[in-house]
Amino acid sequence: MAHSNTCEIYELKQPRYYRYKSSIPFEEDTTHEFKCHTNLSKDELPPWTQIPESDKRTRNRVSKSLNAFLNSERAATVYLGISDDGRVIGLQLTIFKMDHIRFNLDDLFSRYNPTVERHRYSIEFIPVVEDDATDDEILKAVNFNPCNGVIDTQRARKHLLHTYKRCWCMADMVARSNNGILPPTYVVEIHIAAWDPSDTCNVNSVGHMNAPSYHEDECGKVYIRQQSASHQLSQRELYGIVRQNVNVYYSNMIRTLSEELKQLKSKRNDDIKPSK
Ligand SMILES: [Zn+2]
Repeated sequence: MAHSNTCEIYELKQPRYYRYKSSIPFEEDTTHEFKCHTNLSKDELPPWTQIPESDKRTRNRVSKSLNAFLNSERAATVYLGISDDGRVIGLQLTIFKMDHIRFNLDDLFSRYNPTVERHRYSIEFIPVVEDDATDDEILKAVNFNPCNGVIDTQRARKHLLHTYKRCWCMADMVARSNNGILPPTYVVEIHIAAWDPSDTCNVNSVGHMNAPSYHEDECGKVYIRQQSASHQLSQRELYGIVRQNVNVYYSNMIRTLSEELKQLKSKRNDDIKPSK
């Protein structure tokens, strides 16, 4: 599938940056996941990452972690360009590759059921500087505008999604590198916003309960986050969680109504007391 572009400018939130090979001061846990590639969905995983005659893979799609974070309702981040042991590696990206990742993410979430609303996620490209970078080099990296010198028609080309085959933006980046034009390095942060039942942007919440929906990913699977792992929910587990949420919601409502009823009865008794 191809996806058309719009010419969005990515404003780097300054002065954030990562130092190459530095260690991240936290581990993978209930709200952080590290990946060293940009294969979001199942159909982007190259066949050679699939172990023959097995369901095992040497590379996991990013979608699984994103799905688990969305269904776990907390604010969380997936970092692309950081190794499993928390070291900053970074990903070399041109503005075209950045566009590709952004459109790919939008496309992925449009394939979830229900689809993921735009206010539930955001993406940032944080520059990576050399481990011995000077203050001037850091300033240059955080002020670098990847759109410089790029004309809109170049960014209007359609990107190739839903496949492990190489998109034109990747071929373009390789050609630039071969000609000595090395693209800058970034860590891509995909942020999932916490579920906020009072947010008026929510359209997928469950009826008047305003409870979050559980999203199925592009493979029809539902995950939740448990410590540093994404756990796939069985139908039985999912039913149990939904039933518990409904019970909590109605128990609270019954408690509130009982309290109101008690107060009304008390008021009525006061009102019908014969006056002396
Ligand atoms: Zn592309």
